[in-house]
Amino acid sequence: MKIQAIPLTAASRGSVVPKAARPVLPFIAVLAAAIALPFVSDDYWTLIATRAAIYWILVSGLNLAVGFGGQLAIGFVAVLTLGAYVASVLAAGTITLAWPAFAALGAAGLAGAVAGGIIGLPALRLGSFYFAMTTLGFATIVTQVALAWTSVTGGGTGVAGPSLPAPFDTTLGLYGLCLALAALCTWMTANIAHSRFGRGLVAIRDADVAAEAVGVAKPRLLLSVFVLCGTLAGVAGGLFASLQSYITPDAFTFDLSVLFFIAILVGGRGSVLGPLLGIIVLTVLPELAAPLVAWSTFLYAILLLVIVLTIPGGLAELLDVVNRRPIPAGRVISPQMDLVPVMLPPRSAGDRLELRDVLLRFGAVRAIDGLDLQIRPGQVHGLIGPNGSGKTTTLNVISGYAAPEQGQITLGDTPLPFGRPHLRAGHGIARTFQRPRILGESSVLQNVALGGSINGRASFFETLLSLPRHHRDEARFRDDALLALRLVGLEALAAVRADRLQHSELRFVEIARALMQRPSILLLDEPAAGLTPGEIIKLGLLIKAVSRQGIGVLLVEHHADLIFDVCDHVTVLNLGRVLACGTPAEIRSHREVVSAYLGG
Ligand code: ADP
Ligand code: MG
Repeated sequence: MKIQAIPLTAASRGSVVPKAARPVLPFIAVLAAAIALPFVSDDYWTLIATRAAIYWILVSGLNLAVGFGGQLAIGFVAVLTLGAYVASVLAAGTITLAWPAFAALGAAGLAGAVAGGIIGLPALRLGSFYFAMTTLGFATIVTQVALAWTSVTGGGTGVAGPSLPAPFDTTLGLYGLCLALAALCTWMTANIAHSRFGRGLVAIRDADVAAEAVGVAKPRLLLSVFVLCGTLAGVAGGLFASLQSYITPDAFTFDLSVLFFIAILVGGRGSVLGPLLGIIVLTVLPELAAPLVAWSTFLYAILLLVIVLTIPGGLAELLDVVNRRPIPAGRVISPQMDLVPVMLPPRSAGDRLELRDVLLRFGAVRAIDGLDLQIRPGQVHGLIGPNGSGKTTTLNVISGYAAPEQGQITLGDTPLPFGRPHLRAGHGIARTFQRPRILGESSVLQNVALGGSINGRASFFETLLSLPRHHRDEARFRDDALLALRLVGLEALAAVRADRLQHSELRFVEIARALMQRPSILLLDEPAAGLTPGEIIKLGLLIKAVSRQGIGVLLVEHHADLIFDVCDHVTVLNLGRVLACGTPAEIRSHREVVSAYLGG
């Protein structure tokens, strides 16, 4: 069985993935306008545009953390300040011999990278509110140090910015440099945005637990992103100091931080183009009417309110024509079972997953109380029981979210550790959720492609520079995700924003995402909830077909028909304890189960 056997031809791809999946035209238009600017206007506007380009160098990186990753790094002006001072102080030679300007810029980038990492660390532990506060604290510290360390930074009187060598020592030369760097940053950050790392960030923002379930290593990803943000912000700081020729601590106000943040929100989170337009608008707007400069903070606030109230998705939502097209009503989900063996080549004897004497309490509630359970490769194991009987908790224990107080879980002979749920995907364990965990603002295709995260080969750095492994990864993810979508019968919706789908469709999207992982164990938490009777039958066939490929399925369900149709074994839980277990026929005739649960 080869994937190529399926006619995933250019034609079928073309119909599913919009041609504008990664539109470059708007970027080229912005770049062309920026290049033309000095020729059609004066030095004044070139200076304004240089400032916008420098801000964008910072914001392009920050956008990954804030817009994609949802991390409230509001005090990022701190790194701009740091970069400006490092570059200026080194170039001025107040501590060492004077450095060449470009070396000083490089050092600013390096200092920014370290600062970015340090600022990012609390994000891995703190809630978003506290994280926002620590970034603000960092901004205050940097400014205070710059003020107090007079011998080096010149204190309140300031220090000269690095003066770049020819040809970058003219207005036009500096603009050219900043514009080239801004274009480079746009390209690099867009590469990350459109990769498994970008999807991972959006997943951290919109569906934290789903990110972990597919194997996204949150700490590592966020740290890489913050180091990148810091580097770009540091370089931007150095350039900012060159542009200003002279810097003092008051050049770096909190307003500037707010400006960066608002540019991202106005532009639209999860977009590269939106925040780029956002920073252009916010830099240019006050210049169009000089009297407004004094009011700029006020105007930003008003603009932000208007945007949040009228178009919460920002400029990016305005520009997203694809998702304003109506999608057909009365859609039918028709999974294609013949694709199951293509997606999941049959595996020889996999490992059995075994829970032994697992106990987990929430306060006084024994959510699971001495549970034994075995999920065998190639079989479907049903887990049923009334609400609150511990079914979801069992899934959470298996997928590593909840650590039991007692008992253990093994996959084959390997004990599975707890506390690091993102490692479960590497063990071949995939799951869906009782309430679908979806990246609502991403396309259906992106949602499914997220499931491939652990199979990516290209590193963060390779992705940043769009090296061949990144291209191979993305081509494979797209083909696989399309195949998974065809399998569950949703390929027609690949390009649609996931939050436009019906609930039942989201259930199948989650299954497609889980299958992308090519799991050996699949955990399904009430996949039939909210489905029509017809859809439940198709779901049953799909589950059966998947298990026949040698995958062990744990099916948590309330629909007795589905359970009895597809399961090889059934365990009935009540108050966290096993009430009965056996074949469907045995369970159906178990007197206690029938009277307590099946209501017959
Ligand atoms: P089911 O999925 O079978 O409906 P759950 O596994 O969700 O049941 O819940 C089992 C029991 O554990 C319930 O009594 C529930 O209230 C309790 N429980 C589940 N999660 C938590 C939690 N995070 N904190 C406290 N109690 C919880
Ligand atoms: Mg549940």
